Amino acid sequence: MEEKELTQLYPNEKGYFGSFGGAFIPEMLHANVQELQEQYLAIMGDTSFQEELQLLLHDYAGRPTPLYYAKRLSEKYKANIYLKREDLCHTGAHKVNNTIGQVLLAERLGKKKIIAETGAGQHGVATATVCALKGLECKVFMGELDIQRQAPNVGRMKLLGAEVIPAMSGNRTLKDATNEALRYWINHASDTHYIIGSVVGPHPYPDMVARFQSVISEEIRKQLLEKTGNALPNKVIACVGGGSNATGAFFNYIEDDGVELIAAEAAGLGIDSGESAAATFLGKRGVLHGSMTTFMQTDDGQVVEPYSISAGMDYPGIGPALAHWFKSGRVHFEAVTDDEALVAGMALCKTEGIIPAIESSHALAVLDKIDIIEGETIVINLSGRGDKDLETYIKYQSKVDANVL
Ligand SMILES: *Cc1c(COP(=O)(O)O)cnc(C)c1O
Repeated sequence: MEEKELTQLYPNEKGYFGSFGGAFIPEMLHANVQELQEQYLAIMGDTSFQEELQLLLHDYAGRPTPLYYAKRLSEKYKANIYLKREDLCHTGAHKVNNTIGQVLLAERLGKKKIIAETGAGQHGVATATVCALKGLECKVFMGELDIQRQAPNVGRMKLLGAEVIPAMSGNRTLKDATNEALRYWINHASDTHYIIGSVVGPHPYPDMVARFQSVISEEIRKQLLEKTGNALPNKVIACVGGGSNATGAFFNYIEDDGVELIAAEAAGLGIDSGESAAATFLGKRGVLHGSMTTFMQTDDGQVVEPYSISAGMDYPGIGPALAHWFKSGRVHFEAVTDDEALVAGMALCKTEGIIPAIESSHALAVLDKIDIIEGETIVINLSGRGDKDLETYIKYQSKVDANVL
């Protein structure tokens, strides 16, 4: 049996959380990544950096986002359910918390150009947005299939002045876009900062992105204390693509053992269907996109193409910190199928008047999978809004109406 690990919130100096993390990168990226490793904490700790970050989070991104007591949902589950409204952030999801932070960091590193990868297009839009804000040149790599699936976000990025570059390899989705972005960075290392959109990639990205997203649970603690007299809920639930919104929602609770942390993974058509993105259920330890982590792979270590109805969850692995928190037993994972997510998302529309991103609907679906103690307090991180997913919901609704499921 594998040994459990002691839960770590921060990586060690080599970027490891337990046996996960590190920086597995080509020689030609060493200088860039090392520059980041050496400087990110000092820059983020700088007073003028923090002042500008806080101002932009407040006036530009719209933080703090509300912690909403969902009364009708609470009645349905006989619990006190709060929704952390990241769907109300500028650009429609939590991703802007990270892109604002990283663009400020890039400026202080003297980088003039920004590249990014995107799946659902949410991170691409969040990156194009802050590049417009700062007048920086922006290239966004996106799988060609995702470009088809997410046309409105492609349009948004272009409106915002970014160049969208299609990734034609593999499944033509997020993983392939990430590969292309890394390849580009190798050839343009000196003047370009790569804004990674989740808690993945080589050290220091997982830690850096986690710190930028930790504002989510920093606010939850304050808001919950104000509303209930107790900063600690019984459970926090969040969905996991790469893991950035979940990490942000869990971060300030990792050391509170009494708070149960539950991550929702995309099971696609079912864990055993061959069409899934359930990285902890199906994954093994290995190196993916620059770090040692858990991802879906064949016996000889090739990445298994992930599938989820939701482009933001369509990633074969999870970030190294989450892989470590899974192994240490701190974070519990639930696998949620496409259908379960859609049903839960559509129920929220009718119960609370909120149309969630299908990613977030995976977190909502967890309510039907866990034991809930009457009257307990549950926080669900509503990572984004569902405007981009309307067509998928509407199609599903018409199947429900026609009784063909
Ligand atoms: C991108 C995205 C996700 C998945 O990414 P994480 O890094 O796991 O948070 C989840 N929800 C929404 C709305 C997204 O846009």
